[in-house]
Amino acid sequence: MSDDTIFGKIARGEMDADIVYENSRVVAFRDINPQAPTHVLVIPRKPIATINDIEADDRMLIGEMFLAAKEVARIEGLESSGYRVVMNCGEGAGQSVFHIHLHVLGGRSLKWPPG
Ligand code: 5GP
Repeated sequence: MSDDTIFGKIARGEMDADIVYENSRVVAFRDINPQAPTHVLVIPRKPIATINDIEADDRMLIGEMFLAAKEVARIEGLESSGYRVVMNCGEGAGQSVFHIHLHVLGGRSLKWPPG
């Protein structure tokens, strides 16, 4: 699948990002418009547009994204204070970049439900 999104370019090393953690399958980097003191995005290197496009064979990769989110929280010192991990699916839910990404948010009090 081709991927011309910003995050596809970051995943392929074609565009700069403030990388917090990466391995051969996922990349975690700081959001350009942070909504909390820590706001890091976790993406797979594989291009997947939305949650609706995840396939059964991707189950290990999706698990890897959560392990990376946990590692980001450890690096940022958020394990005991708490943090939020969220993924928007579709424009109606606020998704603006069509390469799946977990938002890892922390470092301030977080309200529920989100708007
Ligand atoms: P979404 O709205 O799709 O759930 O989240 C997309 C996120 O990507 C937004 O929080 C936005 O600030 C962030 N973003 C958009 N363009 C860039 C970029 O070029 N670099 C980085 N690091 N983040 C971006």
